[in-house]
Amino acid sequence: MTKAATQMTAQIIDGTRIGREIREEVRLDVEALKRQGVQPGLAAVLVGDNPASQVYVRNKIKACENLGIYSREIRLPGETTTQELLSTVEALNRDEAIDGVLVQLPLPRQIDEPAILLAVSPQKDVDGLHPVNAGNLALGRKALTPCTPTGVLEILRREHIALAGSRVVVVGRSNLVGKPQLLLLLQEHATVTICHSRTRHLPQVCREADILVAAIGRPGFVTAEFVKPGAVVIDVGINRVSGDLLKGILAADPSLVTQYEKNHAENKEFVLTGDVNFSSVASVASAITPVPGGVGPLTIAMLMKNTVQAARLRRGQ
Ligand code: NDP
Repeated sequence: MTKAATQMTAQIIDGTRIGREIREEVRLDVEALKRQGVQPGLAAVLVGDNPASQVYVRNKIKACENLGIYSREIRLPGETTTQELLSTVEALNRDEAIDGVLVQLPLPRQIDEPAILLAVSPQKDVDGLHPVNAGNLALGRKALTPCTPTGVLEILRREHIALAGSRVVVVGRSNLVGKPQLLLLLQEHATVTICHSRTRHLPQVCREADILVAAIGRPGFVTAEFVKPGAVVIDVGINRVSGDLLKGILAADPSLVTQYEKNHAENKEFVLTGDVNFSSVASVASAITPVPGGVGPLTIAMLMKNTVQAARLRRGQ
């Protein structure tokens, strides 16, 4: 961790460094598996031409290449049917070279997303979204768990932030982040409260937290008012703010100005920001993850780790 600007009290948690450490550990694991004649393999299925999804899939494939994991990118046209995508997933389930199958979300509207997630073999479900894995997680059994909340747990562990007995508040109850986050923290013996859009007196509930996790999808939503002095704040949100909203967010959170100026110089008229107003919260929290460079780098690192874990589990290790 490094110290934020002098008027801020918070330590900035360096997710980029932690992500790099985990990837290095995965690289060594892959080498060990290769010595046993096993090369872990990941297949990423991309349907349509959503630009953000294309970038995510490209980054995942690149991460595989860097770590010695076999990878395969499967691109399908935007008008693919549920049945066609099911056939692709089923072929990958049977493919011996593939240990992890990920279907990049969101899928085009005509596709039955729950049916697709259900079709991925639980053993190859490196996104941890299959009901079998979600159920095993809920029961405290061995499971492949969703990458982002598992990454949050890695951050907390590696920064030696005590979880047992701590009060944790998670804002957001999605199947991808909030719910598995709750269950993972519970396994670590934290006392967890989960909040959502119907929660009453949200700032007050959040102020009870020793650790506050924001996974909302609303830029700069969490301000100092939500944070108990000395709490740890983990910002899962990734929001791209442009157009009319840009001026407001820069005024509300001056820490974004440097990023904006850099982007502007490259003719990019947007900023990436989390669900936490960094400028406001860094003056009360004891530690905070920045966006970018906080939770984001952990997501791909955990996907790589899950792929290796899936390769091992599938071989009974
Ligand atoms: P969802 O939209 O699926 O869920 C958002 C959650 O926030 C919902 O539970 C919703 O409540 C809650 N919420 C929305 N508005 C409010 C509000 N005003 N007060 C309280 N709760 C509110 O989003 P995701 O969980 O998929 O993602 C959350 C954020 O994390 C996004 O910014 C996303 O981009 C980011 N993300 C980052 C990743 C990373 O790699 N760092 C990976 C995945 C996501 P309700 O259920 O009542 O509607």
